[in-house]
Amino acid sequence: MGTFKALRIDRTETGQAVAVVRFDDADLMAGDVTVRVTHSTVNYKDGLAITGRSPVVRRFPMIPGVDFAGTVETSSHPEVKPGDAVVLNGWGLGETHLGAYAERARVKGDWLVPLPPGFSPADAMAIGTAGYTAMLAVLAIEKQGLAPSDGRVLVTGAAGGVGSVAVALLSRLGWHVIASTGRAEEADFLRGLGAAEIIGRDELSKPGRPLGKERWAAAIDAVGSHTLANILAQTKMNGAVAACGLAGGSDLPTTVMPFILRGVSLLGIDSVMARRERRIEAWGRLERDLDREKLKALTTKIAFDDIVPTAYAILDGRVRGRVVVEIGR
Ligand code: NDP
Repeated sequence: MGTFKALRIDRTETGQAVAVVRFDDADLMAGDVTVRVTHSTVNYKDGLAITGRSPVVRRFPMIPGVDFAGTVETSSHPEVKPGDAVVLNGWGLGETHLGAYAERARVKGDWLVPLPPGFSPADAMAIGTAGYTAMLAVLAIEKQGLAPSDGRVLVTGAAGGVGSVAVALLSRLGWHVIASTGRAEEADFLRGLGAAEIIGRDELSKPGRPLGKERWAAAIDAVGSHTLANILAQTKMNGAVAACGLAGGSDLPTTVMPFILRGVSLLGIDSVMARRERRIEAWGRLERDLDREKLKALTTKIAFDDIVPTAYAILDGRVRGRVVVEIGR
């Protein structure tokens, strides 16, 4: 028993307070595996949790951080052994269960996925929940029977975490990728990841018509609201749209027209409670299909003390690609 460094959110009279503290082992929650956390990341949801802008945290005190990579210290789970390199995404980590921004975590062994041998713990968190969600979205489109020969694919929020990994993955898989971004200055970055065309965020963000010209066979959307409605309206016959985010709003002001006149499918993506087999499939495909040079190009490394400012930056749309937190730095 001892203490370890952690970021802690406490409830206050006016909202919440965030501080770096020494956290007591005895105060960790129940779980059959204890992990030495070496790397984490800052996802959009972590931004919401740390700033308190959305009610992501549902228990106080909370250690935020929805995903980590690390090494197992102790385990009473039959399939998890001390020394195993592991990854955890979601399952309520940083929301209802003490999370990733700490040197130690105690979790359920069933939540853990073995670190794919082709990735270091830092690589796994460069991918993180955003990148693993991008892969879940690609898998959903493929399971819909769609392939690059069907037409173009659109990615929105392209310079963000989900978007940048989606662009890299889809271009590697042979798709003609249209990247939608609000940051014109990131056009070269997106072309470097494999985008064939760049369009402005404004083109899709305003209220539009129920049906428009058919422009793409598939799309991965991190934005929601009018953007998602316009994407659906401009999806080709029998195409599919994977909805994974709400960076532009959680509403969906659409009509049934794309569904009943063009057979368009809207595919919901949830990374938090995704089944274990689907997680293992996604991590396996990331290992196979994600270009390591592109992963490097879209990743920035930060120290523990940079977590809070980065949480504010990600909500302001100022983070490019993915951020790895080196917990020990
Ligand atoms: P990022 O902040 O890294 O990326 C979001 C991107 O969306 C921004 O970089 C920006 O891209 C664009 N954007 C931001 N604000 C707006 C706006 N007001 N209108 C239109 N576009 C905007 O976040 P993540 O990639 O980590 O997450 C993206 C979304 O996916 C979030 O809503 C997150 O909650 C969700 N998510 C969902 C998961 C799931 O399980 N379903 C898992 C992981 C994430 P650009 O500058 O290129 O325009």
